[in-house]
Amino acid sequence: MFEQLDNEALLSALTTERSAFTRSDPLLLRLMIEELIRRKVYPTDTVEGNPNSVVTMVEGWGARWHEWRPPFECQHCHCDLRDYRTGPPFKREIAVTDFVRDHTVDYRCPDCDVSLLAGATAWKRVLDDSDP
Ligand SMILES: [Zn+2]
Repeated sequence: MFEQLDNEALLSALTTERSAFTRSDPLLLRLMIEELIRRKVYPTDTVEGNPNSVVTMVEGWGARWHEWRPPFECQHCHCDLRDYRTGPPFKREIAVTDFVRDHTVDYRCPDCDVSLLAGATAWKRVLDDSDP
């Protein structure tokens, strides 16, 4: 049913279908996910440290939940920020939240505890994307 779509097109179609919320078709969503699993774009199941199913990950984190978003390492101590216990998209950086403004104001390295925003444009982009 999705033969005409390559992997990227199918991921984009799933993103569109998911963002349609109440107007989305749960069966179509499920078929798209099954097809992505069949093509080995998605794993059959999430890793052991992640209690969510693949379907829940798509619903909660989006069609591209299976990819870690860069940057992958701390620019200060060069540790790997990807969380292999929980798998993608989860990373180990610590979000610093201003609870008064209910807004993430910084990300710190879990290993060296230095701000990941210090001189890093990639991280400023991550922070901008998290704006409500
Ligand atoms: Zn570090």
